[in-house]
Amino acid sequence: MSVEVIAVGGYEEIGKNMTAIKIGGDIVIFDMGINLDRLHIHEDTNIEKMHSLDLIERGVIPNDTLMKDVNGKVRAIVFTHGHLDHIGAVAKLAHRYEAPIIATPYTMALIEKTIKGEKKFKFKNPLKVLNSGEKCQISQDITLEFVRTTHSIPQAVTPALHTSEGIIVYSNDFKFDNHQTLSLPPDYQRFRELGEKGVLAAIIDTTRAAEHDQVKTHSEKIARIILKDIMEEPLKGDNGVIVTTFASHLERIQAISNIANESNRKLLLLGRSMERYCTLAEKLGILELPDNTGVYGGSKAINRALARADENRSEYILVTTGHQGEPDALLPRIANNKTMFNVKPGDYVVISAPVIPSPLNRANRNTMERRLKSSGARIFTNAHVSGHAGREDHREFIRMLNAKHLIPTHGNLEMLTAYTELAEEEGYKLGNNIHILRNGQAQVFNGE
Ligand SMILES: [Zn+2]
Repeated sequence: MSVEVIAVGGYEEIGKNMTAIKIGGDIVIFDMGINLDRLHIHEDTNIEKMHSLDLIERGVIPNDTLMKDVNGKVRAIVFTHGHLDHIGAVAKLAHRYEAPIIATPYTMALIEKTIKGEKKFKFKNPLKVLNSGEKCQISQDITLEFVRTTHSIPQAVTPALHTSEGIIVYSNDFKFDNHQTLSLPPDYQRFRELGEKGVLAAIIDTTRAAEHDQVKTHSEKIARIILKDIMEEPLKGDNGVIVTTFASHLERIQAISNIANESNRKLLLLGRSMERYCTLAEKLGILELPDNTGVYGGSKAINRALARADENRSEYILVTTGHQGEPDALLPRIANNKTMFNVKPGDYVVISAPVIPSPLNRANRNTMERRLKSSGARIFTNAHVSGHAGREDHREFIRMLNAKHLIPTHGNLEMLTAYTELAEEEGYKLGNNIHILRNGQAQVFNGE
């Protein structure tokens, strides 16, 4: 039986991840994400009214029209974690396939929310929740297993497909973090067992592979310490404190919440996506927020909360969206004096996120920081650690999995190539057993 890995999206960029695996006549799809950069959109934007062909043309969602020419039946659509570059296109694409959607509980809750908001398409796919460590039969020849991993959102998994041709591992995205508070460490033992059983191919996230100085990605524990060091003193004063981070980064939000709790300040989580990710996480018992926390996503509610915080700034800590400086997100609007909260000299702004490197983001961030500074704010940037594996983590993983073939993904050509060089150090050879694919290309393994 032949196995084919079809690169649908995410092989020329960071964004719109989608990979199809064809085993004999059965197909399993991994992820259906969006590319935020392409639309100049961000976590708070809504694409609910847009048509999929329009979005494909703009490069916002994967071009899955090539699936028409793939001879086989889609048996499952499997999601790794709840980031938009992995689940954001589900409502636009999944309805075209008669197949169940499989994800961990939190990822599924986010998928359901996306589906409910969809205005263009009707959705009939059955939803099947699978926890990490569990398996489920996809077809006569395929069993899906969710192996626990860590990333910058809870309940991220590395799916493994057990087939008669060997195991196919789809590790997109991951880091090796042994000290998160909301997630257990990755299941290294299981990865090694899979390696011993026989991995035919592993598809791997290469986001940081080209960063040669990033040897091992630091744990979230480091981010917790940085945040505590920055925030502890300011929280005792009567100045305002604003923190901005990824709304989906619950581990980080939990850390900020714990620091706020010790300070007796009241936590306000503000922004549309902040409300979406945090409310669901609290409902599922993943995130534990103090009872008096305010979570607001609508603009009126946000403004009322900001007005209260403006008058009593020593009583609150604001956690907002807008870490990239996107003009219509909350922190940039605060910086531009477009809200009821006026930044004053001595206020603290902690940016717990890196600049995601695109010219637009750099320009937006720069403008926002300049405006905040001109209002007299003290700004702390880079209170952050990455959610993606560094080069030595990759080396470790290559040795654990001992895959016959490697396929780098989740990056541009520079990242895919940097990973390839690393794999060659580990004995792989480009074109022989490590394969660089571009969107729309496929790699076939014939009955090995
Ligand atoms: Zn991710």
